[in-house]
Amino acid sequence: MRQGTGNLTMPDYRAPVRDMKFVLNELLQSEAHYRSLTGCEELTPELLDAILDSASKFSENVIAPLNRSGDEQGCGFDNGKVTMPDGFNAAFTQYAEGGWYALSVPCAEGGQGLPGSCSIVLGEMTGSANYSWSMVSGLSQAPVSLLLAAGSEQQKKTYLPNLLSGDWAGTMCLTESHCGSDVGLLRTKASRNADGSYAITGTKIFISGGEQDFTDNIIHTVLARVEGAPAGTRGISLFVVPKRMVNEDGSLGDANAVSCGSIEKKMGLKASPTCVMNFDGATGYLLGEENGGMAVMFTLMNTARLGTALQGVSMGEASFQGALTYARERLQMRSLTGPKNPDGPADPIIVHPDVRRMLMTQKALTEGSRAFIYWLAQLVDKTRYGSEEDATNAEDLLSFLTPIAKAFCTETGCEVTNQGLQVFGGHGYIREHGMEQLVRDTRIATLYEGTTGIQSLDLLGRKVMGSGGKLLANFTRLIHKFCEANAADEQMQEFVTPLIELNKKWGELTTEIGTSALESADEIGAAAVDYTLFSGYVALAYMWAQMALVAQRQLQNEMVAEPGFYRTKLATARFYFQRILPRTGAHAQAAAAGADTVMSIEAEAFSW
Ligand SMILES: Cc1cc2nc3c(=O)[nH]c(=O)nc-3n(C[C@H](O)[C@H](O)[C@H](O)COP(=O)(O)OP(=O)(O)OC[C@H]3O[C@@H](n4cnc5c(N)ncnc54)[C@H](O)[C@@H]3O)c2cc1C
Repeated sequence: MRQGTGNLTMPDYRAPVRDMKFVLNELLQSEAHYRSLTGCEELTPELLDAILDSASKFSENVIAPLNRSGDEQGCGFDNGKVTMPDGFNAAFTQYAEGGWYALSVPCAEGGQGLPGSCSIVLGEMTGSANYSWSMVSGLSQAPVSLLLAAGSEQQKKTYLPNLLSGDWAGTMCLTESHCGSDVGLLRTKASRNADGSYAITGTKIFISGGEQDFTDNIIHTVLARVEGAPAGTRGISLFVVPKRMVNEDGSLGDANAVSCGSIEKKMGLKASPTCVMNFDGATGYLLGEENGGMAVMFTLMNTARLGTALQGVSMGEASFQGALTYARERLQMRSLTGPKNPDGPADPIIVHPDVRRMLMTQKALTEGSRAFIYWLAQLVDKTRYGSEEDATNAEDLLSFLTPIAKAFCTETGCEVTNQGLQVFGGHGYIREHGMEQLVRDTRIATLYEGTTGIQSLDLLGRKVMGSGGKLLANFTRLIHKFCEANAADEQMQEFVTPLIELNKKWGELTTEIGTSALESADEIGAAAVDYTLFSGYVALAYMWAQMALVAQRQLQNEMVAEPGFYRTKLATARFYFQRILPRTGAHAQAAAAGADTVMSIEAEAFSW
């Protein structure tokens, strides 16, 4: 445990490099994966190791020590100016000097040309170490991706070099006070100027990193409606709006008419400024086509949602590490099977089955979600650098699995950080150990980038029903193939048999909901979240079954290094299948129960 501000202690973060390497190298065969991608052949295991090494040092030594002090100090606001907590800006500079902002940008655009899956690993580490910090630095990826997707050569030349060097930062400005999930309601206006630019007028709220004091310029990407455009999402355009105008020679010009009205006081992520941004006829430049803003935004959607899913893993890992250390040290009562620390006044709480249950739950959900998200990140790589056929298949799988990952990994991330707090007892609820900060910092993940409810509607309504079950079948076919390939393996039966049953159940459940939806569309809305959680537990079971297979194969080799690692993996897979996977039964039952009980009370009759 490390001393923080004012004698507060934080769990020391140690990047789980061994587990990351297991997932990358042994489960996902990264070397072969990168060799199959055009332009990524030089990403050797040695290079990947070097990235893991540098990223872990930066996360552990530079930003983790700022996590508690950032939470205590928070961001300052004075007359439109936002100040970041002490130490943050120096860490941003160090990150920029390390070239991390440009890691996954093509070389031709001035980046380092590494595929996005490398950024996911980096993102997990920086997120565990200090989520507020990583959020503000990570946001620059939004304008970078949008410029790469739809920017003109001139726009890319104007903004990309400074965004990639970390000299400038960026934001994503979608939300307005009356318009959150329903982006189509937005009112921010764009009027055409004579020189081809636009005057942007409106107020955006909840804008992460909207204002800060670590870069000279901030490149806002803003959704607005051009005058006369259709209502709803069909009439939305996307604009680049710099905080400071950029002269033709690249130097900074006058201030644009953009200002920060205030920052929010909020539950967590206190070192990440959440800003009200006023655009008062600010000069903006169209990205892509007029009324084509949502189409450009969609190019970012999968990676942004995966990035948020990863928050569940990052925070879960940090919480697990704190809880494990504490459970080994805290002495309370005796083991039910007799003293395990006879010379001490009591046994460490890790001897108690209920504490083990919590630690195992944390471990199984976090490691399972890590494997799931890293695999999806490889699919994203394929959409960019794979063959045409691989890219299409990956696109289809991602379209189906991304809302599951976003909803499931953030919901379980909240559960995992809560379990971490519970392991500390009352000491988790007070601030001293930092466990309550992890709960507070994680909570937002189920809300932004589309709430769990919205992800679930996307999954069940658009992706499953909208594709006539085709996208679901793509994935259940993969599970089926895995089960078929391992059907004769005696040792794998404990994983394969339940997986076959759940795969079948998934299809039946979908048909059942689809049939009732013919009567009323509310059936979809009423089933959606339970359906998504059911889907998430099955997806993780598929990952755990594969990890169990890798572990069993390694253990067959008597000379294998670190047999304990593989035995632990196998035991965690068993815990997942026997103690967590049964939750699918309750979710399936609830999802199939129909909309009647959910909708039967009139809105006015809820309270008496
Ligand atoms: C800390 C923080 C940082 C943020 N950062 C950014 C940022 O950088 N840029 C940005 O643009 N925004 C940002 N946001 C905004 C965030 O994306 C929105 O809060 C989120 O999209 C939800 O919108 P809302 O809060 O208006 O909730 P609402 O849309 O009002 O939803 C309220 C509730 O109704 C449910 N609901 C709504 N519609 C439906 C439906 N059709 N079916 C079922 N349920 C429904 C929702 O699931 C939710 O439970 C941030 C927010 C916070 C708190």
